[in-house]
Formats: sequence, C-alpha cells, structure tokens
Amino acid sequence: MAQDGLHERLHDVYEEVTRRNAGEIEFHQAVYEVLTSLGPVVDKHPEYSDTAIIRRLFEPERQIIFRVPWIDDTGAEQINRGFRVEFNSALGPFKGGLRFHPSVYLGIVKFLGFEQIFKNSLTGLPIGGGKGGSDFDPKGRSKNEVMRFCQSFMTELYRHIGEYTDVPAGDIGVGGREIGYLFGQYKRITNRYESGVLTGKGLTWGGSQVRTEATGYGTVFFVDEILRSTGQSFDGKQVVVSGSGNVAIYAIEKVQALGGTVVGCSDSSGYIVDEKGVDLELLKELKEVRRGRISEYAETRGGAARFVENESIWQLPCDIALPCATQNELDGDDAKALIASGCQVVAEGANMPCTPEAVKLFAEAKVAFAPGKAANAGGVATSALEMQQNASRDSWTFEETEQRLAEIMGRIHDRCLSTADEYGQPGNYMAGANIAGFIRVADAMSALGVV
Ligand code: NDP
Repeated sequence: MAQDGLHERLHDVYEEVTRRNAGEIEFHQAVYEVLTSLGPVVDKHPEYSDTAIIRRLFEPERQIIFRVPWIDDTGAEQINRGFRVEFNSALGPFKGGLRFHPSVYLGIVKFLGFEQIFKNSLTGLPIGGGKGGSDFDPKGRSKNEVMRFCQSFMTELYRHIGEYTDVPAGDIGVGGREIGYLFGQYKRITNRYESGVLTGKGLTWGGSQVRTEATGYGTVFFVDEILRSTGQSFDGKQVVVSGSGNVAIYAIEKVQALGGTVVGCSDSSGYIVDEKGVDLELLKELKEVRRGRISEYAETRGGAARFVENESIWQLPCDIALPCATQNELDGDDAKALIASGCQVVAEGANMPCTPEAVKLFAEAKVAFAPGKAANAGGVATSALEMQQNASRDSWTFEETEQRLAEIMGRIHDRCLSTADEYGQPGNYMAGANIAGFIRVADAMSALGVV
C-alpha cells in the first residue's frame, strides 16, 4: 500500500511493519488506517514518536500457531491450523474473538487483533486486545464434527488462556454452540469452572443477557447517536444490512424496533430484497436454527422477496448502510453507488468491511462514516460486562444490561467526536476513534515501562 496521507515521522514505522509482516495485507491495511489518523497526535505530542511506543504497539506480545487434528464423520483424519495472537495487554487481559473460516491465516488474525486493541481501549473498560481462530470451515460439517474440532482446538488453546490472561469469544463461524463445546473442553481439561475464561456463553452456564444481541444492537445505537446529533431518527429510514449472521440479525432487529425498514440482507452467495422489510422471524429460523442459505428466504417469501445471486448488495438504494459481513466487502464502486443513491450514514458492524478507497469516497461526499472499532464495540463491551458478572457471581436483567450497552455506545460516540474536535478533524469519527483508542493504550504502555 502506498504511503500517501502518512505523516513523515510515521513513514519508517509503516515501512517496518510491511517488511516484518510480509504478505499480511489485511494487517498492513489496518495499520495504515490507524497511522493515517496519528499525524496530528505526533505533531501535538512528539514524545509518542520519539519513544518506540508506536513501533512496539505494532508488534504483538505473543503469536501462537498450532496444529488441530480431528476425525471427521467418515473416520478420516483432518488437519487444520489454529491461531491466537495476543496483541496487547496494557489495559487488561487479551480479549477478542475466535474466527473459524477457510480464509483465516496469520494476516487476518493479526489485523483483527490489532483493531481489537483500539476498540477495547475505546470502550473505557479494562481489556487488552487479541484475536484467534482457525482455517476450519464449519459449513456442511455435522454437529459432532464441529464438536470434535472445537475439543481438539481447545486441547491446545487451554494452556494459553485464562480469566487474567486471555479471554476469547466468538466471531465468524463461532457462536453460542461452538463456545459451549470450547468451554466444556476447557472445564474438563483444567477441572475448573472458570466462567471468566470465555465470553458469549449460554445464559444457563455463565453467559450474560444481551451478549448475543450486543454487536448488532450496539452498531444501531451508535447510528442512532449520529442521527440524533443532526436532529434525525431511524423513523422512516431505508436501511441495507450485509450478512445474515449474528451481527446482521441483531442489527436488523434493533433497526426495526427503532422504526427503520431493512430492505435487504445477504450471505456469501448473494442478497435478498424485501421491500416491505425483512421478516426477522423467518430469517432467524433460517439462519440460527436451520443454518440454511439466504436464497431459501426468497423461496419461502414467494413473490414478496427476490434473491440476487453473486452480486453486491450495495447496489440497493438506502439512507443507511450497515456492512455486517466481513472485511473488504464494500469497495470504491459500491461506495459510489451508495453515494449516488443518497446514503447518509455508513456504520461498520463488521471489522474493516470498507476498503480504504470506499472510506475516502465517503469522506469526500460527507457521508457520516463510523469505523468498526467504534461502531461494533458493543459486542466486546458486553463481553466485559459478562466477565464482570462472572467475577461477582451475579447476573443482571436484560433491561439493565441493554441500558449499560446503550450508555457505553453513547460514550464511545461522544469520545470519538470530542477527540476528533480536539485534534482538528471535526465530525471525523475514524480519526476520533483511532486517536482516542491510541492515546489510552499508549499512555498505559508508557506507564508500564519497556515490557
Ligand atoms: P457470522 O458467522 O455469524 O456471520 C457472518 C455473515 O457474513 C454470514 O451471513 C456470512 O455468510 C457472511 N459472509 C462471510 N463472508 C462473506 C463474504 N465474503 N461475502 C458476503 N458475506 C459473507 O459472523 P458474525 O456476524 O459474528 O461476524 C460478522 C462480522 O462482524 C465479522 O467481520 C466479525 O469480525 C465482526 N464482529 C463480530 C462480533 C461478534 O460479536 N460476533 C463483534 C465485533 C465484530 P456465509 O454464511 O455465506 O459465509
């Protein structure tokens, strides 16, 4: 990636990251995005670039790669690769999800772990940043195969995690079912009911109310704050949400509760259009229970909805776009189509779903753009609330937990705006998120010495 837009004092840092992490393009992209925001910080506080804090921040504290052997339903041995990148623990134990998807390799895990540092910092809660996963593809695998895989994965991972060390959660391909199998194996190996070692647990065994809904709800609360700051609301707004997994489903639920209409959603095979609004009950049954494909949604809805195969959902006109599927799913052409259709707000429910070109186009067109590290922080924030409840052997009601989530999202929103103002970038949520996230971590790292 070119070095345009980088402060001259940060060129060498970026060059070093790309050289030391060759081929890890998603990681380079995530680092570049943060560095583009840090120019005003090194101008105002040269101490950050005079010391090695920035360079140290880009080097994970620990990177673990391991073999995951397991037996499939035909009796054949399968081998996958497992990862855990423990990126930064200056603010608290490493915290971040596990992703099971065939595209997973070190560069993806590193980009996600790196983003997580800033996101967790922004929540104001005591959690460091990490991420993990495997190139295991759960699609088409039986429940027993998924269980055997999770057990093998945890048989190695257990020695690296713990409630004071590293606390994984879910991400793509890892939901409540997988967290259950992982927690069961951890409990068996260690002979400890250590609830705080994983988050995203079921409600009957240490989970928190609202954790399932938190990332999607939180993204929508963030957008609600943006709309309110300009005297608007969701009422009557047309919304497009990509994906149809955990984040997308609960983003759709909250948009509908606040009076918006979600006219389309997708999976990796294409998207559906349902002009009157997505039928959430049908979507949940299809995706959470049957684990089917999005095309079946249109089949069941008959003439009310249509399925468009293998095309970009961002061709659908909307007021608000919520990319909630995966990284780099919304590119420059998609951004141009959204801008032309009058889209006013884009908020990243997924991690880094918008390419740098798309982000640039949104800024030029004055579309309000909320980066994932701010907009989707509700998931990890509620994970931290789950840890808090586990530590105090307590459990809060749905209403109380949702209220706390809404307050946290409101604070993140305000922190992004006030920091952006302070550093001469009014209204720039990305600059605000990167700078506020950076300063809290950098100050903690500085206080802890060279470790
Ligand atoms: P899920 O596995 O529940 O759902 C992922 C969805 O995205 C599926 O509908 C999937 O479709 C779709 N998808 C995946 N790859 C592509 C692709 N290349 N093109 C189009 N659609 C695709 O994952 P989550 O909902 O948990 O995660 C979604 C995003 O949100 C990720 O970026 C994740 O990192 C981020 N996130 C998740 C959090 C959480 O709490 N779960 C917290 C913060 C961020 P298909 O089934 O066809 O693959």
